[in-house]
Amino acid sequence: TFPAVVIEETDGKASTVLKQLTLADLPAHDTLVEIQYSGLNYKDGLALSGNRNKVARSLPMVGGIDLVGTVVETSSSQWKAGDQVLVNGFGLSEQHWGGFSRFQRVKSEWLVPLPAAFTPLQAMAIGTAGYTAALCVDALERWGHAQPGRGKVLVTGAAGGVGSVAVALLAKAGYLVTASTGRVDTHEYLKALGATECIDRASLQGPVRPLQRETWAGAVDSVGSVTLANVLAQMEYGAAVAACGLAGGMDLPGTVLPHILRSVALLGVDSVMAPMPKRLAAWERLARDLPADKLASMTTVAPMSELPKWAEAILAGQVRGRVVVDVSR
Ligand code: NAP
Repeated sequence: TFPAVVIEETDGKASTVLKQLTLADLPAHDTLVEIQYSGLNYKDGLALSGNRNKVARSLPMVGGIDLVGTVVETSSSQWKAGDQVLVNGFGLSEQHWGGFSRFQRVKSEWLVPLPAAFTPLQAMAIGTAGYTAALCVDALERWGHAQPGRGKVLVTGAAGGVGSVAVALLAKAGYLVTASTGRVDTHEYLKALGATECIDRASLQGPVRPLQRETWAGAVDSVGSVTLANVLAQMEYGAAVAACGLAGGMDLPGTVLPHILRSVALLGVDSVMAPMPKRLAAWERLARDLPADKLASMTTVAPMSELPKWAEAILAGQVRGRVVVDVSR
């Protein structure tokens, strides 16, 4: 037997329990992976806490949208036993059992080879949050307005997982990064990641005037709601926002004016079903532009048994950077 964090229904109520499973309990996908680490993302917080039923579509469900480990056996000709692999998203912890487990069976088409640049622990320190940050930077570069060294690029929710990695990637690529955070005690951390300045997130949470001073050449937003509406109203003519998150709410209380009068673009970024070429490009960027010391400064390692505590912390906006989950403990 081996331990796993299972979201299950007892007496009509969903609860999270650390359970012992056997290989026979796992789903019938084509590849068995021995997992080393998973990670904690905002969506894992939702899955393990009050809103779990919106994430886990059927119960019982093994949580964890990320995993890294070693292939034990596979019927795919693309992979072999001993390969080091990772999975981000693809419905893990939603429709499919996920990474909070010592072993899991997954579909071979979800697998990404562990990049040579990273250890398994580093790959989960990046996790879905970091890989999504890379998708956001890729989206901004495809749009083409922001340029290294010219104009400021804003990152909202900067001290969170997506935000921390976005700051580091953008800084390494030469952009002037402004970090928006609600936590003054993270300013030093964000500057060490490469932010040239920090602003108080409250300055983006006031009433949304449709057209404000053109301030940002690009933006990565993981907050949504009023924050995103204000950011859109502050974009330079022709600039784009890569939006991936809803940590501040899923509404978008703005107007079309930034779009129709300033050609501002809202680039939506999804990581869960992103096609494989986009995933591989994002991991290449991470391997190239995410320095190991900066990644280390973002990383906390926690045992699986502490997940309930960390799930509450991430929903409360209290996690700095990333939490790696050691599934052996
Ligand atoms: P996280 O570590 O909790 O980061 C979110 C950050 O947002 C917090 O650290 C906090 O940063 C800020 N924040 C929290 N509550 C806020 C509020 N009420 N108002 C304004 N700012 C607030 O979470 P994460 O794992 O990075 O994920 C961030 C968001 O991106 C989540 O909504 C997540 O679901 C989404 N996401 C989406 C995708 C996708 O595929 N589209 C992939 C990954 C993540 P400060 O303390 O610095 O202000």
